[in-house]
Amino acid sequence: MKDQYVIPPPPVAAIPTAEGGAFPVRRVYCVGRNYAEHAVEMGHDPNREPPFFFQKNPQDLVSDGSFPYPQGSNDVQHELELMVALKSGGRWITAEAAEAHIWGYGVALDMTCRDLQSIAKERGRPWISAKAFYRSAPCGVLSPVAMTGHPRNGAMELRVSGKVRQKGDLAQQIWTVPEIIERLSTEFELAAGDVILTGTPAGVGPLQVGDSLDGSIAGVGQVSVEVVGEQGPPR
Ligand code: MN
Repeated sequence: MKDQYVIPPPPVAAIPTAEGGAFPVRRVYCVGRNYAEHAVEMGHDPNREPPFFFQKNPQDLVSDGSFPYPQGSNDVQHELELMVALKSGGRWITAEAAEAHIWGYGVALDMTCRDLQSIAKERGRPWISAKAFYRSAPCGVLSPVAMTGHPRNGAMELRVSGKVRQKGDLAQQIWTVPEIIERLSTEFELAAGDVILTGTPAGVGPLQVGDSLDGSIAGVGQVSVEVVGEQGPPR
């Protein structure tokens, strides 16, 4: 067993929990356009285009309170989102059975390079550079279901340097969390450690180095980050 790997296995990415331990992360799924008003502000018709999925990477879910503004973008925007963490998974999970797979909930920011995303959309390219860049998903702690229940509603608010930028409610989701799990499990095999960012309400906007962000979802938790300048390559 000692010689099974030719290099040391990479460390497991993890999110701190309100209980004190850490939740190990396997995959990060994200839902696009899951709130009608946000779909409209992005120029889409929520009645004609249903939500959809993309991914981020486990190592970029960071909770140390610091977000380095990526040098490759001039339009990084905040998206406040409910984060769902799974303790088990499988395929063909029905919405009715979905909640039994949830370990807990938290609050995350789906940071987005809007300029790079626009170029990707225009050219039919994947969103990886716009969505899955270094430290692109700041988050707060995860709280177990025993503490949060399964929130179906709850006020969402994001303040940037004290000013309210995003306001919404979990009840405005087009796909509920059980519906998201059902749909994801038709395409992917879900498993313990999977985390889902469930989409953002209206009010997304640009950030600048020096901004401080405070996001909250009533009954779920908070996320707080400072936007700092990204360190460039060593000289
Ligand atoms: Mn998002």
